Amino acid sequence: MDDVRILDAWSAGRRRPEARRLLLLAAACPGTPAETLAGLTAGRSNLLLLRDRRDTLGSRLEGETTCSACDARLEVAVDLSELLGDADASADDDAADDGDSRAAADGELRSGDCVVCFRLPTVRDLQTAAAGADPESAARVLLRSCVVSFDRAGELRPAEDLPTELLHALDTELGRRDPHADLRLSASCPGCEHTFELVLDPVSLYWDELEARARRLLLDVHRLADRYGWSERECLGIDPLRRAGYLELIG
Ligand SMILES: [Zn+2]
Repeated sequence: MDDVRILDAWSAGRRRPEARRLLLLAAACPGTPAETLAGLTAGRSNLLLLRDRRDTLGSRLEGETTCSACDARLEVAVDLSELLGDADASADDDAADDGDSRAAADGELRSGDCVVCFRLPTVRDLQTAAAGADPESAARVLLRSCVVSFDRAGELRPAEDLPTELLHALDTELGRRDPHADLRLSASCPGCEHTFELVLDPVSLYWDELEARARRLLLDVHRLADRYGWSERECLGIDPLRRAGYLELIG
């Protein structure tokens, strides 16, 4: 993602927090229509964002967390190339097609006299769910949005009538079919030797990093514009090495 796209995505994402996944994807894949990106599954979109994060800011990802047993502060480091592994290329293939690949992933679950036809959640579904209420109800809204039809004893019923155990089964099946939708890392505490899982959310992670980058870019543009009278696009259009050279001269 180049500097112009970073600033564009940042200002648009500040105005529409619920659309950040799609905005970051659009900035990461400038040649792909928004409709195609909105139709990607959650897992595919996660892979694309992590790949772009690696290409833009480097493969090493560092952060801090707290041990869930002893509350100690822990440093966590991940190599994104390792994490992406073989899945990297398939994310690329998906973004290049017309976004209709999810149809092949549709399936059905049966339990007793219940039959649920479902599809995998997409970027569009995630955005709709995130625009609603708290995270807990957003998860329920998302799960129900994956229900194409629910049939009980031969009668069509609304997704709201889905029994809890079938909802859990659906959740498990969606995770199995789109494994990168829910990314988790294993961490262990050197102090108490407790091992636990960390949820990796590519959108909030990449967003926070790009926001920091955008603020530094604004400062750079401000200093260059103030000194040389260049426009924002002119400042951002300069080769980064030469831009750094001018900033060094300004001091
Ligand atoms: Zn600990």
